[in-house]
Amino acid sequence: MSIVSNSLKRIKPSPTIAVSQKARELKAAGKDVIGLGAGEPDFDTPDNIKKAAIEAINKGDTKYTAVDGTPALKKAIVNKFKRENNLDYSTEQISVGTGGKQIIFNAILATVNPGDEVIIPAPYWVSYPDIVLLAGGKPKIVKCSERNNFKITPEELKKSITKKTKWIIINSPSNPTGSGYNQKELKALGEVLKKNKNVFILSDDIYEHITYDDFEFFTIAQIKELKDRTLTMNGVSKSYAMTGWRIGYGAGPKDIIKAMAKLQSQSTTNPSSISQAAAVEALNGTQDFIKTRVESFKERRDFVVTYLNSIKGLSCLKPNGAFYVFPNCKKLLGKKLKTDKDFVEKLLGEALVAVVQGSAFGLDGYFRISYATSMDNLKTALERIKSFCESLS
Ligand code: PLP
Repeated sequence: MSIVSNSLKRIKPSPTIAVSQKARELKAAGKDVIGLGAGEPDFDTPDNIKKAAIEAINKGDTKYTAVDGTPALKKAIVNKFKRENNLDYSTEQISVGTGGKQIIFNAILATVNPGDEVIIPAPYWVSYPDIVLLAGGKPKIVKCSERNNFKITPEELKKSITKKTKWIIINSPSNPTGSGYNQKELKALGEVLKKNKNVFILSDDIYEHITYDDFEFFTIAQIKELKDRTLTMNGVSKSYAMTGWRIGYGAGPKDIIKAMAKLQSQSTTNPSSISQAAAVEALNGTQDFIKTRVESFKERRDFVVTYLNSIKGLSCLKPNGAFYVFPNCKKLLGKKLKTDKDFVEKLLGEALVAVVQGSAFGLDGYFRISYATSMDNLKTALERIKSFCESLS
């Protein structure tokens, strides 16, 4: 008999972490692999943030803190929501966790009963369905069309809601597609949600600051009638290049926040005291570097999208946020390579470029490229992808 619990058997390891691991192993074996699989900025954490962490260590901020965040960080988060989203929260409506992932994990584990349904538009961030499954819930996957930029429509949302629906997860801009919902689109979804008062909304805003062109970020909690049913998740990982520091936060109804703290008190306790001090500086300090970094991401996005669209058999939409593209490779699938998984495995084995198959995100026939790497890497990787695709026809 296996030692592994039944709840753990329901889930699988993160496929994106698996690809990064595989690429790392090939590199360690001396292969010249280019990894376009990782979901993290290649920039370093800004110096003012590092300095705040060093000061925290020197000051002796090295003890346990309040479970779901220091008063200073909660205040910085309250101010962030007011300043950037015009949203009013009290500190009791804020929860800080070890990365945005723990916030989502806490929220789902603390609220989902066996059989409860969670609507997840696909393509989705890989962890959503598994967290729901671990909690004993049912992921209700809604496959979204490329024609609608991979976004759920109000009609699709309406059709997928049942009496058992507990949550819908909205991620804008999205991992893996980079698509963002604008204000009009969120208001249209909001009309459906206003009529379905049993449904809570989990808004994953982790890519809020990484948007391009004239896209204006809007978050669903800004719809007055829905704010009391929305848990907004955000964090410092992506905007401030702080993935290793592990700080994410949530804002929402007090009862959910309290339940999340209860769960966290029996698992990880507080997030690192040093990282929390760094996150205070990230949120309160200068935001100027974000603009320059986003410009650099935009240049890479433009290069990658144009290049991909010049490759026979591939097509790629131009996303308005995050640092991913999600090209369509259906025309290259057939006898030789049956699935997108075959495609990415062969691409890694033969062309030494690591990407992630679309099916890992719930939509077959695509793959995800993270362009959070240098232009030199991107140029070489795309030349290799081009030769690989040409070799298939
Ligand atoms: N949500 C999305 C859509 C993400 O892409 C990620 C990270 O890849 C997270 C949440 C989790 O962020 P963190 O590293 O802060 O846990």
